[in-house]
Amino acid sequence: MDFSWLPQPRFVPIPRAFYSLESDGPFERCLQCDTELLTSGRPYLIERVFRGAEPIIEYALCEACVEKAQQELSQESREAVARYLSERIDFAARIEHIRSLQDVADEDLDAESWFDHCAVSGQSAADSRERQIAAWCQGSQMRIDHALPLMLAGPALEELQAVLSEKTRGWMNDFVSDNFGMPPEFCDEPDIRPILL
Ligand SMILES: [Zn+2]
Repeated sequence: MDFSWLPQPRFVPIPRAFYSLESDGPFERCLQCDTELLTSGRPYLIERVFRGAEPIIEYALCEACVEKAQQELSQESREAVARYLSERIDFAARIEHIRSLQDVADEDLDAESWFDHCAVSGQSAADSRERQIAAWCQGSQMRIDHALPLMLAGPALEELQAVLSEKTRGWMNDFVSDNFGMPPEFCDEPDIRPILL
């Protein structure tokens, strides 16, 4: 796909919704390799899974660890996820939204408008029992582009889980239990597993 026509990504200070519950501030280290994130200049992905207002799973992964994790996912699953997202998310509208804000200063951007509703169903965060938010960040800044940040609510997360291969689902269960020590019955709930976007 040719992305050269995409508008330039925007950068805003990381909103509190992407702060770590544990440190009550920005994520400081990569979950997997412990790389320092705030001063190293390396891009990193933040994902947080909520039940109601409560974050149940949250982590930051540096770019290298995201790439490594994605290689663990089957080719079939990666294609299925890409297909699901491209069919169900109106990326053209997101690009248009960024374009329409070209003359708005970074500090005046309403960053929350990108992740306060489900990118698939439009369901609001307040109406979502489960939801996941994801964003790419760099240093103390969050990147806004055609893909991220976004929010996916429970029903979309369930649909997304359903397109994954058995192998990928197994890998994600292991990822959750290795890193967060969840009991297996918790991992069996399909809508609360994080999706590595
Ligand atoms: Zn890492």
